[in-house]
Amino acid sequence: MLSPKRSYYLGCDGAGKQDMTFEAIEEGMELREIRGAVAKLCQAFPGEYWRKLDREAAYPTDFVKTLSEHGFLSVLIPEEYGGAGLPLSAAAAILQEIQRAGCNGSACHAQMYTMGTLLLHGNLTQKRTWLPEIAKGALRLQAFGVTEPTSGTDTSSIKTIAKRDGDTYIINGQKIWTSRAEHSDLMLLLARTTPKEQAAKRTDGLSVFLVDMREAKKAGMTIRPIRTMMNHSTTEVFFDNVRVPAANLIGEEGRGFRYILSGMNAERILIAAECIGDAKWFLEKATAYAKERIVFGRPIGQNQGIQFPIAKAYAAMRAAELMVHDAARRYEAGENCGAEANMAKMLAADASWEAANACLQTYGGFGFAQDFDVERKFRETRLYQVAPISTNLILAFIAEHVLCLPRSY
Ligand SMILES: Cc1cc2nc3c(=O)[nH]c(=O)nc-3n(C[C@H](O)[C@H](O)[C@H](O)COP(=O)(O)OP(=O)(O)OC[C@H]3O[C@@H](n4cnc5c(N)ncnc54)[C@H](O)[C@@H]3O)c2cc1C
Repeated sequence: MLSPKRSYYLGCDGAGKQDMTFEAIEEGMELREIRGAVAKLCQAFPGEYWRKLDREAAYPTDFVKTLSEHGFLSVLIPEEYGGAGLPLSAAAAILQEIQRAGCNGSACHAQMYTMGTLLLHGNLTQKRTWLPEIAKGALRLQAFGVTEPTSGTDTSSIKTIAKRDGDTYIINGQKIWTSRAEHSDLMLLLARTTPKEQAAKRTDGLSVFLVDMREAKKAGMTIRPIRTMMNHSTTEVFFDNVRVPAANLIGEEGRGFRYILSGMNAERILIAAECIGDAKWFLEKATAYAKERIVFGRPIGQNQGIQFPIAKAYAAMRAAELMVHDAARRYEAGENCGAEANMAKMLAADASWEAANACLQTYGGFGFAQDFDVERKFRETRLYQVAPISTNLILAFIAEHVLCLPRSY
């Protein structure tokens, strides 16, 4: 609920100090405590830590391990399976604080949203087998294999095939951009079990599997890293007659597209929360620098040419944050929040990108120097315009499903 009790203006005091409390709505004690605990934990992982990983294209193993040990990556797992059983807004708060602290949650965020498919559509045996191990941090569910090189955004055209053979499925094909595959024990995989031309609908005949990558790597699965403009541990994965037990099929064969889709709203909301965290980080950096950098004998922040882009980005961030809260509230109330989740992701990604631009411009030449972390975060936040879903596809969703315009693809 929106609360009228609290003022959210920056509250500049006479000394020009800011109250950097950017929360859009009044939050309960539990969420505030979670935010505080995450922010504290992140202090142990400052800019130097991320810069070194960035240079070496290395995975933030210590950071992810620490988050797991503190139970932050299993907050969405119900208590009966060893998790904290918290709502989506708790996961959103965790990811937002990680980004706001200058850290990078993309190393581990997938565990939060891939979990939903197993939770919602997995059977009791699967949940009892996997969830407690994931909650303990003994197993990592960080890999999500949907995108393929030839089909791209057109998921229904994927070519990876899973063919039933007795008690197993034999998997052949290729995935691309499977992030964190080298740092995950399990992969949630989407594959065709019925060829598209034989399916009643193009989205039928797709199935979801929980692949134990520790086994698969011994028998037919090959992972190749892809170097990208930011440190993202992404890969391409090849399946050459990989056998997966039929017991690892999630839900019913052929209904996988719906299962993946049902997890998308959570994914959109969590990524949007990350973007808001990024936007806050950029705004805090830009504002602080604009006050302390003296050129022509006065702070650069005294110039409206510097102030206005930051102020505009701040307003965009606040508006996007409200949409993220609205989407999360609807999600938690069990309402259909497809439109809000998509709009939240788009607006938040736009806000983080606008804040990134304003921050880089405010820093001038120093924005390009690695030591200030602005250029690293700038590269990292650019991704959200494309992945996990590109802006065009969100606009197409709004046009078709909200405004009822003719389908474009
Ligand atoms: C670093 C990184 C990490 C990723 N991690 C994962 C992961 O872990 N798991 C996973 O499965 N995928 C992952 N992805 C894939 C990501 O979701 C896709 O890159 C994204 O969905 C876009 O697909 P594409 O790259 O094939 O682009 P394409 O589908 O080739 O599209 C190219 C461009 O054309 C536009 N376009 C395409 N069709 C239309 C249309 N009908 N109307 C208007 N515009 C259109 C797109 O918006 C895009 O801008 C990752 C990608 C990256 C870059």
